[in-house]
Amino acid sequence: MRSFLEIHPNLVSEWSPVNELGPDQVSYGSNKPIIWNGVCGHTWTATPKNRGNNHGCPYCSSNKILVGVNDLASRHPELAKEWSGKNLPAMPQQYGEFSNKPFWWKCSKCGNEWLARIADRSEGHGCPFCVAKSREERWQERRNAKQELLATRRREHLIQVRQQQLTRDLKDSGFRIAVIRYYSALTGFSVVYDQVGHIGIPLQIFFPEKCAAIELTSHLREGWRDWRYENAKNWLCLNSGIKLIRIIPQTGYKFENCKCVRLKNDSVDALNYTLTQVFKRLKIPMDIDVSRDYEKIRRYLAC
Ligand SMILES: [Zn+2]
Ligand SMILES: [Zn+2]
Repeated sequence: MRSFLEIHPNLVSEWSPVNELGPDQVSYGSNKPIIWNGVCGHTWTATPKNRGNNHGCPYCSSNKILVGVNDLASRHPELAKEWSGKNLPAMPQQYGEFSNKPFWWKCSKCGNEWLARIADRSEGHGCPFCVAKSREERWQERRNAKQELLATRRREHLIQVRQQQLTRDLKDSGFRIAVIRYYSALTGFSVVYDQVGHIGIPLQIFFPEKCAAIELTSHLREGWRDWRYENAKNWLCLNSGIKLIRIIPQTGYKFENCKCVRLKNDSVDALNYTLTQVFKRLKIPMDIDVSRDYEKIRRYLAC
């Protein structure tokens, strides 16, 4: 007989002293149940034949359940908490973490119950209701982001269109007049437009209470005749005690007998600057920002 000691000297240290026979007295292929004290600290019963076939501690390999060591409740307390009451009398202490048996689970987050194998749960499969919900939430988030992006693009497009429109409008003296009228109306003083009134010829913008007028003088179309007409207007204002402020082009003729403020170019900054100067000369503080007030000015222009 070839003894267990002879064939497996490396396993002999786990041979429990409580066994009646020693490893030198039992055949290596015996089917006699022997008690083993594993180096892992567990105690179990196995035949020398099985041990010789590389079978180790059944608790460490989860082939057997040892409550408090390798049962589901000990290995995965978080899963044991989700063990449904529907499973009773079965308890999570009775099964290993890799059991293929299906059981009911009650989600600790949403409270829904579903059926799943213990092994699948140990591998990390969670509540199907929560998974579906978070998928739906992710979709919703994506939809929202998409809509927000579209809205932003639409806004940006509108701003771009408005910017182009403003650039076009700034070249138009009719629009400039509308801008001056818009801010004049905001002063709180009464203001009349293009009325003959005081001096016998029309003034573009006239403040009776302030005894002041604003004229926007573009390049004179008919040369000498226009120039004489505008100069006559200056004289009449001067004689009537009306303070006349003219906005003239950067390269335009500078008039006498009135105040002249130059408009440097077609930019919005130039217009803001010039109008601020004009209202300063009228001693009316005015916060002028044509770009900011563009929508309102357009509406004002429309009515
Ligand atoms: Zn063990
Ligand atoms: Zn859930």
